[in-house]
Amino acid sequence: MRLMRRPKGMLAEGDLVLGEEAVPEVREGQALARVKYLSVDPTMRVWMATDSYLPAVKIGEVMRGGGLAEVIESRHPQYKKGDKIVGMTGMQEYVLIDAQAKMPYQKIPSIPFVSDTLFLGALGVTGITAYFGMMDVGKPQKGETVVVSAAAGATGSVAGQIAKIQGCRVVGIAGTDEKCKWLTEELGFDAAVNYKHADWKEKLTAATPNGVDLNFENVGGEIMEAVLSRMNLHGRVVLCGFISGYTKEEPAQANLGMLIVKRLKLQGFLVLDYVSRFTEAATELGKWKMMGKLKDKQTVVEGLEKAPEAINMLFTGANMGKTLVKI
Ligand code: NAP
Repeated sequence: MRLMRRPKGMLAEGDLVLGEEAVPEVREGQALARVKYLSVDPTMRVWMATDSYLPAVKIGEVMRGGGLAEVIESRHPQYKKGDKIVGMTGMQEYVLIDAQAKMPYQKIPSIPFVSDTLFLGALGVTGITAYFGMMDVGKPQKGETVVVSAAAGATGSVAGQIAKIQGCRVVGIAGTDEKCKWLTEELGFDAAVNYKHADWKEKLTAATPNGVDLNFENVGGEIMEAVLSRMNLHGRVVLCGFISGYTKEEPAQANLGMLIVKRLKLQGFLVLDYVSRFTEAATELGKWKMMGKLKDKQTVVEGLEKAPEAINMLFTGANMGKTLVKI
């Protein structure tokens, strides 16, 4: 699937176009893998539009994206037929792995009762984002109040559970009652607020009687503003994402004057900066998963042709937990 036009707003027909091409031949030093699942991430919408921490995808290029694939043929010293790998497969059915791949692929282990797709979600880059954002940047302390936005999404749901494991009071913000119910009844959040209800700001105040010490921010805009106004003096804000601005021409705004009024510390981070420590996070997340302390959910959309719809779901909130495309 190639990027044929830079989207305006939500993805429209013709922005990403699916075509058929010959499967590449495998030469010495290369391997061919069949992509089984694609990771659907908000940052893909940014990559389609503009240069950011990675250059924008060029018009006509295969759309960049993470995926899970199985090696079907190999003349590569590091991979054998049957290996399952995760990495930047691109939005395509077959990926050719070169000896000098810019972003290396990780082999995933076969663990009984653990679905491979978890290595794209709670045990993959998504979970690792939540882990380093929370543990390395946010550093939650026992008894603190933590608010997570886009809390029923892939990153937010893991981030909130990590703060619970650290002994915090955790409040999630999400866009449906069903999502809020999942957060409180299944994931153990102390409270969840549906921001689509007219009185949600009062509900947020009621859910944070001792103010907010740590904000794990995924959204920006009006949601972040409401949380900043609940922050305690010297609170911390972890800026993970600004999804409310990704489909707009203007970036998402927030009342940054609150940083002064409340003497807050705000730090953005990128999971890519932690590549050398991925194993550390994956080990810890795996342990929590085995202990039943880390739960997950997936929204699976079937068919590569549906990938644009799946990306749009991130912006309408039609997804829950980790969003994947099954090829
Ligand atoms: P996700 O949370 O699974 O999906 C996005 C969710 O955002 C939707 O389910 C929707 O839920 C919510 N949302 C979308 N537009 C919104 C709006 N205008 N206002 C309020 N909520 C909105 O996606 P994800 O992959 O886990 O990513 C979450 C955030 O983490 C994104 O901002 C992403 O860019 C960021 N991220 C950062 C890094 C990093 O290295 N810093 C890495 C990965 C992801 P509702 O129904 O609740 O609205």
